[in-house]
This record gives sequence, C-alpha cells and structure tokens, in this order.
Amino acid sequence: TVSVLWFRRDLRLSDHPALLAALDAGTSVLPVFVLDPRLLAPGRPRSRRLVAAVRALAAALDGRLVVRTGNPGEVVPELAREVGAETVHVTRETTPFGRRRDAAVAAALSAEGRRLAATGTPYAAGPGRVVTQSGAAYRVFGPFARAWRAHGSPPPASPPLRIPWFDGDVGGVALPAVSAVASSGGLAGEVAARQKWLDFLADGKLARYGEDRDRPDLDATSRMSIPLKYGEIHPRTLLADIASHPDGRTSGAATFVTELAWREFYADVLWHRPESAWQDLRPELARIPYDTGPETDRLVEAWRAGRTGYPIVDAGMRQLLAEGWMHNRLRMITASFLTKDLHVWWPAGARHFLDHLLDGDIASNNHGWQWVAGTGTDAAPYFRVLNPLRQAHRFDPEGEYVRRWVPELAHLPGAAAHEPWDHPNGYDHGYPGRIVDHDVERREALTRYELSRR
Ligand code: FAD
Repeated sequence: TVSVLWFRRDLRLSDHPALLAALDAGTSVLPVFVLDPRLLAPGRPRSRRLVAAVRALAAALDGRLVVRTGNPGEVVPELAREVGAETVHVTRETTPFGRRRDAAVAAALSAEGRRLAATGTPYAAGPGRVVTQSGAAYRVFGPFARAWRAHGSPPPASPPLRIPWFDGDVGGVALPAVSAVASSGGLAGEVAARQKWLDFLADGKLARYGEDRDRPDLDATSRMSIPLKYGEIHPRTLLADIASHPDGRTSGAATFVTELAWREFYADVLWHRPESAWQDLRPELARIPYDTGPETDRLVEAWRAGRTGYPIVDAGMRQLLAEGWMHNRLRMITASFLTKDLHVWWPAGARHFLDHLLDGDIASNNHGWQWVAGTGTDAAPYFRVLNPLRQAHRFDPEGEYVRRWVPELAHLPGAAAHEPWDHPNGYDHGYPGRIVDHDVERREALTRYELSRR
C-alpha cells in the first residue's frame, strides 16, 4: 500500500514524525505539496520564500515531490484516489486556517473511506498539551513557560534507514522559477537551516545570547525564525542540540530556550482562543479609541515607508522592507510607535508585518503585536510606552544600526545619528522631520487608556 505524505509547515526530511508514521503504515510513501492559491499572494515575500523552501525539498527528494495546485479539500482526496492510498499523513496544523482546512480535507477523505492521520506539530509541545492542573489553558507566559519546561519534548525522531518513495507515474505541476525566489531571505531548505544553526552555535553566540540579543547593531540572534516558520528545522532539534552543547547550561542558553517558549506560548494561546488572531485578547481594553481617517493614513504611510523622522523607528521599518526580517527589539519599538505614538489599532500594523516578514506567523506576530499594544494575555501593562530615543541609545549605542538602514543619516557620527535635530547638518541629506512629538503622544496614549477605564 502507498501512504501519501502531504507536506505543509514541515518542509524537511529529518526529525519528521509524520514521515515515520507514513513509513510505518505503507510499503511506499508518495510526497506531495499543494500550492493553495488562498495562501499564495504573488509578490509577497513569504510566498516567494515558501516556494524556495518547497524547491529545496523537491531537490532533496530527487524530483519525486508531486506538486499540485488548488484547494487541498479537492486536490488531496483526488490524489489519494488516483494512487489508491488509504491514509494521508500530515503534521498536525494548529492555526485557525489550518484547522478548518484540515477538517475539510479529513471529511472529504472519510467520505471515500480514507483517513487523514496527523502526527506531531511544528512545536516542541503540541499546542493545547501544556495545561494547568485543572486542565485549563495558561493565560500568562511565566507559568506556561515553567510548565512547558517540565512537560519537556521528545527527542528528535530517528532518521529512517531507507525511505521507499512511491515511484509510480503521478502528474503534477512545476514550481515557479527559482530566479523569482532567489533573493528572499538567504538559502532555503533544511541543509541551509541546519548549517545556519550550527554556525550560530559554533560562533559562541549561545553563551552571549542573554547579553547581546537586544542589540540590533550586532548579529547576535539565531535567525531561526524563518526556517522554523517553514519547518525546515524543528524546535525539538534545536532543544536537543542545546542540551548537548558545551554552552547548553549557560544563562544565555536558558534565555534562548525561553524565547523558543514564547513561540510555543503564542501558538498555545491561538489554539485555545482562535479569535485572538485578529481581536483584542483583553476585552476591557476594547474601549480605547483609536485614530482613523486620511490624516492617520498619511502617518501610517510614513511609518510603513520608514519616514517618521525617528531614526530608530525608520531603520527598523526599512530593514523590514529590504530584508523581510526585523530584529525583535525593532519589532517592539516600531509596533509601540504605531500603537502608542500614532494611536492606531494593532491589526493594521500586524497586517503590514505579515505582508513583508519572511517569518510572518499568525501566532507569534499577532500576539507579539498584542503584547506591545497591551491588549494581549500577558501582564504587560498598557501604560508601557517605549521611548524611541531612549531605546535607540540603549540598544544601538554607537548608532551603527541606524546608519546601516538610513543613509540620509550616514554623515552623523556615533550616537548623533539618533538625534539629527540636535545637529546643524542633521537634515542636510533629506532626512524627514518628526511626524509627531513623542512626549505629547505618550501623554495622549495614557489619557486615552485612563478614560477607557472609567
Ligand atoms: P532569536 O532571538 O534567535 O530567537 C530564537 C527563536 O525564538 C526565534 O527564531 C523564534 O522562533 C523564537 N522567538 C524569539 N522571540 C520570540 C517572541 N517574542 N515571540 C515568539 N517567538 C519568539 N516571530 C516570528 O517567528 N514570526 C513573526 O511573525 C513575528 N512577529 C513579531 C511581531 C512583533 C510585534 C514582535 C514584538 C515579535 C514578533 N516575533 C515574530 C518574535 C521575534 O521578534 C522573532 O521571532 C525574532 O526576532 C526572530 O529572530 P531570530 O530567529 O534571530 O530570534
């Protein structure tokens, strides 16, 4: 019998429990990817990066990957019928869209006496698995992270000795050309992801992670968010590598594991509260008034383009547009600026990030936005308003990050790049003036918050 293995957010061959399940169940495995037009927006960086990841997988499979286009609810059952597969194997999907899609596919398969079998998830602990003693979901990160650590994760799945791939004649479509995807976010595929991770470990960055992770001027973080997004590497592999690494017991390693726990926490929150993808988690803050209209649109456009007149904010927004990635500290600073300085409801910013991030992920992104906006599950108070200038001096002390992304300020030495308004030649190269006054807008944000509580 043949088992179908339908790849989605698990574009790798190593440490792949669903692949092992497919092997166990059949005498051969047919690997499939479905290009779902609902998920692919032409020109969106994330779509290009997805295609690059699928291409890398196809190459690793020596061209055996069958690629079809359409709604998986039709395409997948059709394929199973064609090859006479009883079971279609997948990694369990946990996002609202993925759950709806998989329920539809499972129903269509079972109508023909076939089955969708889900094994594993893109997380170390499957969303919904880490619960309180009374079986409830965690609402706050700290207790979740402690329980998540105690829950642990299974060791990486052992590599199969031999994979009997299905070699019958199954038609498919060609993937879009590589030239269209080559520029997006470094090399794709599990080999490149593994190499990037091993480089991070070899460079001693794990031990220094606690001190350096907040410094956008240094290249101090792992950049694993993109490979994790497409499942080119599994967090279980990262955790196992850390546990056996000489620096695995440093405080830097502990901090790194905590960051992975944030990814797991947000996926867990989304699992329990799917509506939180686009709605405030804290309903008591839903009465805060936000700005809309043409004047706000103009300000938001300046924010998107990296022309707010606040160098650190603009550097972050320009890195996003140029690289499809932004340093975590900058995600916080730029998100705070949109929500607290421009008084715009967070979904507008979350949407812009998803349109441009290569690691754009509904759980980490939208809950990251809610965290900054103060509307999320966390104890993060709404009244924390990040001061762009103070953040800039603290985390980009020599102004290097700003000069890298804002060439109009390249002539200002050191930290002067953070304050062009204090230098007679600050605006000589066309850098825009500040679109709002942070001190004024900070007070305005706090006033709105106080009024909404009355
Ligand atoms: P590292 O510092 O090397 O961290 C290791 C891994 O831990 C990351 O790859 C990521 O998987 C996880 N991680 C680290 N910080 C967080 C966090 N705060 N929340 C969740 N997971 C975390 N991350 C995404 O993967 N996709 C997104 O779309 C996304 N959007 C964000 C939006 C906002 C407003 C904020 C504040 C954060 C967002 N993050 C998102 C989290 C974080 O910024 C990125 O994961 C991180 O910057 C990726 O770089 P890295 O891989 O070098 O991280």
